[in-house]
Amino acid sequence: MYGRDLAGEDAADAVRPKVNRAFRALRKGNLICRMSFSCCMGCACAELDPMVKARKARGAVYFHKQDDSSFRKGHDLYIRYASAGKDDLKGWKAIGDEVKAALEAEGLVVEWDSDVNMAICVKTKESYRAGEQKAPTSRPVGRKPKLRLTDPAEGRE
Ligand SMILES: [Zn+2]
Repeated sequence: MYGRDLAGEDAADAVRPKVNRAFRALRKGNLICRMSFSCCMGCACAELDPMVKARKARGAVYFHKQDDSSFRKGHDLYIRYASAGKDDLKGWKAIGDEVKAALEAEGLVVEWDSDVNMAICVKTKESYRAGEQKAPTSRPVGRKPKLRLTDPAEGRE
């Protein structure tokens, strides 16, 4: 049904596979990527640190379970990232740029202003709508666009 408020679960379900594909692409750049990983940022960092070291990865990209549950309720999804070189700000920014580009390549609407202290925000509802506009089958039916002002032929209806 068209016109109802976008349910969080619907938006999350539509956005999630795209995030998954973006993560898959990012793994090729030697980044450890985990969806709904660990409970919070502190635990996630503690768990990712040895993984990054063991695999000699450049860094890690993830969102944790608390991010996930908020995302499932329809809020924006925050993607977190870290560079293996903890004080290497250039490395952090490079990873952030890659994450943003990979998410955008999947058609997601992303907000991040290159501030390495900030998580990368996937605008859940905007991303959902962006996907909807590309799919003609999900457009509202039964209502013609208003062409009367520019197309006199339409005025005879
Ligand atoms: Zn925790």
